[in-house]
Amino acid sequence: MIQDLEEKVSLLDLNYSQLQNLVLSLGEPSYRADQLYGWLYQSLAARFEDMLNLPQAMRQRLEQVANVGGLTPLDEIQSTSGLTRKVLFALADGETIESVLMLYDRRHTVCLSTQVGCPVGCPFCATGQGGFIRNLTPGEIVDQVLYFARQLGEHSQRVSNIVFMGMGEPLLNYDATWQAVQTLTDPRGLELGTRRLTISTAGIVPGIERLSREGLQVGLAVSLHAPNDDLRRRFVPIARRYPLQDLLRACHAYVKRIGRRVTFEYALVQGLNDSRAQARQLADLLSGLLCHVNLIPLNPTPDSAWQHSAAARVRGFRRELQRLGVSSTVRLRRGMDIEAGCGQLRSRDARDRSEDTG
Ligand code: SAH
Ligand code: SF4
Repeated sequence: MIQDLEEKVSLLDLNYSQLQNLVLSLGEPSYRADQLYGWLYQSLAARFEDMLNLPQAMRQRLEQVANVGGLTPLDEIQSTSGLTRKVLFALADGETIESVLMLYDRRHTVCLSTQVGCPVGCPFCATGQGGFIRNLTPGEIVDQVLYFARQLGEHSQRVSNIVFMGMGEPLLNYDATWQAVQTLTDPRGLELGTRRLTISTAGIVPGIERLSREGLQVGLAVSLHAPNDDLRRRFVPIARRYPLQDLLRACHAYVKRIGRRVTFEYALVQGLNDSRAQARQLADLLSGLLCHVNLIPLNPTPDSAWQHSAAARVRGFRRELQRLGVSSTVRLRRGMDIEAGCGQLRSRDARDRSEDTG
């Protein structure tokens, strides 16, 4: 009876040794932890009753004290091309997050959320406009991958890449994000290659430094959006605390230590950060750094008057970077018709709900 009143532990929140301890505490031998881990991350089982090689008594005990995550899909929409699938999930406490599956470039990429909302508050970002609610747990982060992995598994396909580019700032929820990275790359489980994971940050310098020290070849994407501090502070408020000089120093150290190029995200906003002179300033800022720039025409949001740059300005900006030897790609705004921008589905859901309630 007391057990019923206690909160169940999500097995997805446990690392391998914590899972082992739980199994031992249930009076089971430690090899049962191997089996359980395999059920969770190789067989992608969502229910204890499916874990057939575990003794029935152990499954019943697990049922009493634990669960296998608990994301509830509330809404799922596909882009008209069918290449982008976005899901709005309810967490156990009723908060909502979004995740996206992208099926192109021969990859099956999951775009994950790490927080409910975001404390950074970038004015052009639907997530930032909604404020911060809470951090996700490691299990809530991993569960987003498991959801899509199960869907793909029905067609004998697998998740191939992960980008931490959904809602939230991963490096402000460092511990949970890093535990999720370890779970996702664990050879006993999902076994994703570390090189296939990319963490995107608004530029949290201590987080980037910590990431460098981990020594794993996880990709780093930095949301730059502006070639100087004055302008960058308008895009990314946290730039007040972490100026470009410190940010670039951390990026240089990352490249040196990890041996991978850094990706810079640059959302092009008409008339604000998209001039040829700004492209030259950007090239200057990035000179000598092993990097790549992703140019993304802004995805307009209802709460911001900023508009995306016209195609000719995007081309002009890119040509200038090219001329100065900076490699860049213009990212197609795939999935625009399903509001694939960061946090947009969730904010639409919140709008609908407030309209519903008058
Ligand atoms: N907080 C992290 C990761 C999540 S945001 C970060 O900021 O990097 C993922 C990316 O989407 C960031 O590069 C962010 O700047 C970008 N983004 C957010 N809203 C956008 C919008 N409306 N249009 C274009 N890019 C946007
Ligand atoms: Fe947060 Fe990233 Fe959105 Fe900025 S762009 S508010 S850091 S999620």
